[in-house]
Amino acid sequence: MIKEVVKKVDLIVVGSGLSALNFIDTYLDSHKKIHVISPKKLKKIKNKKKRILPAQMKSEQNDVDKYFYYNNFFLNNNCKVLGVLNSGGLSNYWGLQMDNEFYNDQKNINKKLFNDIQKNFRTFLVKYGLIGQFKKNRKIIYNNNFKIPNFLQKILDLRNSELKCEKPILAFLSKNLKMNNLNNVKEEKSKLTSKNFFNKIKKKGKIISHNYYVKKIYKDKKKIRIVCNNFDQKEVTFLANKVVFASGTLATTKIIIDFLKVNKEIKVKHHQRLLSVFLAKKSLRYNLDFTPSVLQIKSKSGKFCADVRPGNELITESLIDAYPFYRPFKFFFNFIKSRMIFSNILLDSSHSNIFIKKTKEKFEIYSKKTDAKDYLRQSNKKIFKFLFENKIIFPIFKTLYPGPGADYHYFGTIPFNNNGKLSVNDKCQLKSNKNIYIIDGSVFNFKSNKYPLGWVIANARRIGKLI
Ligand SMILES: Cc1cc2nc3c(=O)[nH]c(=O)nc-3n(C[C@H](O)[C@H](O)[C@H](O)COP(=O)(O)OP(=O)(O)OC[C@H]3O[C@@H](n4cnc5c(N)ncnc54)[C@H](O)[C@@H]3O)c2cc1C
Repeated sequence: MIKEVVKKVDLIVVGSGLSALNFIDTYLDSHKKIHVISPKKLKKIKNKKKRILPAQMKSEQNDVDKYFYYNNFFLNNNCKVLGVLNSGGLSNYWGLQMDNEFYNDQKNINKKLFNDIQKNFRTFLVKYGLIGQFKKNRKIIYNNNFKIPNFLQKILDLRNSELKCEKPILAFLSKNLKMNNLNNVKEEKSKLTSKNFFNKIKKKGKIISHNYYVKKIYKDKKKIRIVCNNFDQKEVTFLANKVVFASGTLATTKIIIDFLKVNKEIKVKHHQRLLSVFLAKKSLRYNLDFTPSVLQIKSKSGKFCADVRPGNELITESLIDAYPFYRPFKFFFNFIKSRMIFSNILLDSSHSNIFIKKTKEKFEIYSKKTDAKDYLRQSNKKIFKFLFENKIIFPIFKTLYPGPGADYHYFGTIPFNNNGKLSVNDKCQLKSNKNIYIIDGSVFNFKSNKYPLGWVIANARRIGKLI
């Protein structure tokens, strides 16, 4: 009989994305060490599924397949969610823009909790020197501004009854940006990805990393039993006083509904997305490989937000993946890339259309019929009209609806102070078991805020201090 390998720990974190690493960063201020479970290397999957991945993830096909396979997810074809099972997760590939203000329109987040999260975000910005301005009730409370081209600056100052323009916070760690010019950013080194952020953690030597993925958790008297596997499918169990879930909303939700024996369908909140391409009247000259969005156009009601991202060769490549018959025009697209404006139009979470349900031993992820496409197209027309009337673009556009889940913002399954078992208290402890903490997007419902990582980072840092 093979003896079960059991490792006893006080506290252990699951995941190594930006929510995990930010928790670890503040936790180590007052603790000597920390254990982390996150797989670095797992056996390759043979039956690959062809997926169109975002530009920055083009080489990650295998780790994406591993994510679904090892997490025992059964993904329905009509649902386009994404995950990646490697060090750092999706946090290595994100678009690097965050909201420049937090809106308090989330149910059951009281004023104190809201202020605490906001305060932690500001401290984070000051400590790591991100680019942009952070506002509290429209007042600037953090300032490391960047310049945008004059013809875009003009629409920033416009008054419009329905829309407002703002600059996002850009996630480059660049305290003293030379001449406020984005072209002076040291792109690869300073991106706030999990890989780069890990190197910034002062006490990273105190992180004890375990190369496993979590399969299941159980209650074991006053502790939590965490069953994991590794590359050779060797099973190891951790017996922990506290476990902190930062494995991203989908994986965290799956592990928690399994633990709580929830068999009903759970709605995953997200921001439905439409991709748009416009042709600008003037050039957007950036020399970065992948310039983030430099402007956001938001509906004042909080219903949608569109960003303005200059074209680049990586995006051209993704465009051709989606429409292979454009391949002969690749050279031309790259030639005019500084005139191309790519925009993601994101809807608020009321249009969410991703569901997760345990059926037998699998976790099915699926979508239903949706009217989101119509709302997205209507929103796109408003953005087009606004840009055209203000002489920013020529009167042409092309759109692509990539399907529910291809926005990559997943959240809202285990919210703060809700009725029912799937909820956490202000300290992010699972209601029915205080040894379990949840610190990723699962606990929020982002409505007016469309770029959620700022909130998630700030909250993870708050809990790292609190424990
Ligand atoms: C292309 C793209 C662009 C995006 N752009 C933006 C943007 O501009 N602004 C914004 O705010 N957000 C953006 N996002 C969303 C953002 O990336 C996520 O919100 C963020 O990565 C969430 O961080 P996380 O740490 O909670 O999860 P992740 O970064 O997904 O990390 C999860 C971690 O858990 C690990 N894991 C998963 N399952 C298991 C398991 N069973 N056992 C152990 N470990 C496990 C993974 O390996 C990983 O280390 C974008 C996402 C993508 C893909």
